[in-house]
Amino acid sequence: MTDCQRPLPDDVTAVRRALVEWYEGDHRSFPWRETTDPYEILVSEVMSQQTQLGRVVEAWSEFLERWPTAADLAAADRADVVGFWTSHSLGYNNRAKYLHEAAQQVQSEFDGSFPQTPAGLSELMGVGPYTANAVASFAFDNGDAVVDTNVKRVLYRVFDVPDDDATFERVANDLMPDGESRVWNNAIMELGGVACEKTPHCDEAGCPWREWCHAYQTGDFTAPDVPTQPSFEGSRRQMRGRVVKVLGEHDEMNLDTLGHRIRVDYTPDGEYGRVWLRELLSDLSDDGLVEVEGAEGETVIRLQG
Ligand code: SF4
Repeated sequence: MTDCQRPLPDDVTAVRRALVEWYEGDHRSFPWRETTDPYEILVSEVMSQQTQLGRVVEAWSEFLERWPTAADLAAADRADVVGFWTSHSLGYNNRAKYLHEAAQQVQSEFDGSFPQTPAGLSELMGVGPYTANAVASFAFDNGDAVVDTNVKRVLYRVFDVPDDDATFERVANDLMPDGESRVWNNAIMELGGVACEKTPHCDEAGCPWREWCHAYQTGDFTAPDVPTQPSFEGSRRQMRGRVVKVLGEHDEMNLDTLGHRIRVDYTPDGEYGRVWLRELLSDLSDDGLVEVEGAEGETVIRLQG
C-alpha cells in the first residue's frame, strides 16, 4: 500500500492497461517519439524546456540536419550552436552551450556512446534529473517514472495523492509497469497534456481513467497547480461527478430525486429535467459507471456493482 490517502486500486493492472491502450490508440505525434536515438531525444528535451512543443518540431529538425550526430555537434564551433539557438528563439543560450559541451563529453568521456541510466546521463553537462530520466526512458526504456507538474496533477486527481513530492514519486513508480518506462511515461504525460489539463477534458478526451478517478467522481478538480476549482461549474463533467457522488451515498435513487439532488434548478419538464438527466445517465451507463432500470416515472438508478 502506498502513502496515498486512498490506496492504488486492486486492479492496478487494468489501470495500467487502460492508459497504455488509450495512448497507443491515438496520441499527438512528435518526431522525437519516433526515434530511440539518445542524442536526438536529448536535443528535443533541452529545446522543450523553454519552448512550446509545436515550435520545437521545426527547430529540432533543422538542428539535426545541421548536426546529425553527437559527434557532429561536438566538432561544431560553439558560436554556431549558440547562434542557431538565438535565431530560433530557443531560450537561454546557456542551454546551447551545455548541449554542445555534453556532446563533447560523450565523445571524450564515454567513447562516443551515451550512458544508458539516469545516473550516468546526469553526468552530462546541463542534464538534470528530469532530463536524464526522460532520455533514459525514451532512448533506452530504462528510466524511472517521470514526475513533472502534469503527472502530479493527474496523480493528485485520480488517486487523491497528497501534495508531497516524495509521495508523488513513490506512487508514480508503483504505478509504472516494470521495464516499460518508454511507453508509460509517454502515456501519462500525454494524459496530463491533452486530457487532464488544468481545466480537464475528461469526456472529450475519452480519459481512460474516469472509472478510477477520484476527481471525476467527486467533481473536485483542484490540483497542486490548480488551487481553485476550474471554471466549469454546471458543466457535464461537474454534473457527472455529482451523480456518482450522490449515488455513492445511496443504494439507489429514482430519477427525479436524483435530479433535485444534483441541480437546484432541476424541474422534471424543464431545460434541466428528465430528458437532460437521462442523457447524462446514458453516458454514465455507457462508461460502466451507473445502472439505469425501468422507464419514465419508475426509473431507478444505482452505481454499477
Ligand atoms: S477523469 Fe478527468 S480529472 Fe480524472 S484523470 Fe481523467 S481527465 Fe483527469
